[in-house]
Amino acid sequence: LPSIFLSALPVLEILEQAGYEAYFVGGAIRDLLLKRPIHDIDIATSAYPEEVKKLFPKTIDTGIKHGTVTVLHHGESYEITTFRTESGYQDFRRPDKVTFVRSLAEDLKRRDFTINALAMNTSGDIIDLFDGLSDLHKHLIKAVGNPLERFHEDALRMMRAVRFMSQLGFKLEKQTAIALKELHPLLAKISVERIRDEFVKMGLGNDSRRAFAVFLNTHLSEEVPNFAGKKNLLAVYPNLKFNPDLETSLWSVIAILLKIPNRQIANFMRSWKNSNLMTNKVEKIITLFDVISAHVPTDFELFEAGEETLMNTIDIARILGQPISSEILVNRYRALPIKKAADLAVDGRFLINLGIKPGPELGNLLLTIKKAVVAGELENSPEAIAAFLNVE
Ligand code: ATP
Ligand code: MG
Repeated sequence: LPSIFLSALPVLEILEQAGYEAYFVGGAIRDLLLKRPIHDIDIATSAYPEEVKKLFPKTIDTGIKHGTVTVLHHGESYEITTFRTESGYQDFRRPDKVTFVRSLAEDLKRRDFTINALAMNTSGDIIDLFDGLSDLHKHLIKAVGNPLERFHEDALRMMRAVRFMSQLGFKLEKQTAIALKELHPLLAKISVERIRDEFVKMGLGNDSRRAFAVFLNTHLSEEVPNFAGKKNLLAVYPNLKFNPDLETSLWSVIAILLKIPNRQIANFMRSWKNSNLMTNKVEKIITLFDVISAHVPTDFELFEAGEETLMNTIDIARILGQPISSEILVNRYRALPIKKAADLAVDGRFLINLGIKPGPELGNLLLTIKKAVVAGELENSPEAIAAFLNVE
């Protein structure tokens, strides 16, 4: 058993010794059986949150309403969730009511897919009530129970289905696929943030292009920001040369396929509730991509883009299969006298100390200095720059 499970074992044993049931559940078991890397483990127990808290001296109420308590044990933290059932789902998302139960079977029943509804006890036995093992072998994403009902309960599960297809390289089970096609409009009820998180995981999965084709064919794509009616543009995605492996590359490639003009990138990114940081990065990538598509970039354009943007732009050209002389561009960038604005030997304060008044003039002067230094016409030292200013 991987060490991540072994170190958690004493936590499960404490619960068992107190007379409760405790299991490893969900994605960690799936990934263990698939020999995939495991990032976090989830523990499920028959103990109610208050009972869990009595057994461990250090706990945090992470999601106490949903039954999740974080237990700190020997310097590690573990999320322990009480077995629960969910009901309500009035609005096609999140249950109205969570009920704690003592039965593992009830808890596994509310999980999304059979491969995610596996549990493992402290002896390493797998509890498989919904033929999840068989679906793991068959590489199938199959809803637990009736897929129509399950997607009605929580429409995000439809995005999760294509996300797992991409990450695992699995196919959709027939009835699950039919339900997805039929119920895609329900996705519109789900918050953009939650859709985005699944979309990004889909986009960065190993089988992203094939999952994306399903995302388009099932019309799920019609329900997400800025994709409606754009199927013909997005249909290029499954034929890309490579899968994106950076989130910035994913958004940039999508923006390019959608032919979003540079000045609309920020709106596009915000419609997906992306962070300002992510938005700025993508804007810079698209700017450089446009430059490179139009002409050989100048040294100053390379300087303004910066290393991260340059590397990322080369990456999206690779994904899009666009020929670009990346080695030459990288070598040219590496040869620049300064690589970023902060490398300049002087700043605004330096100019003010030389008697130049703050204002737009000062900004222009700094730009002139920067351009001269980047062009190799002016040495990047305070002395040389001061001398240059006296001549100007
Ligand atoms: P990852 O490796 O991305 O964390 P995961 O399977 O652990 O994959 P999580 O989103 O962390 O996915 O969810 C943990 C478990 O909770 C899932 O394996 C599944 O059993 C259950 N689950 C999560 N979201 C849902 C949902 N929307 N509906 C039903 N069950 C869900
Ligand atoms: Mg998880």
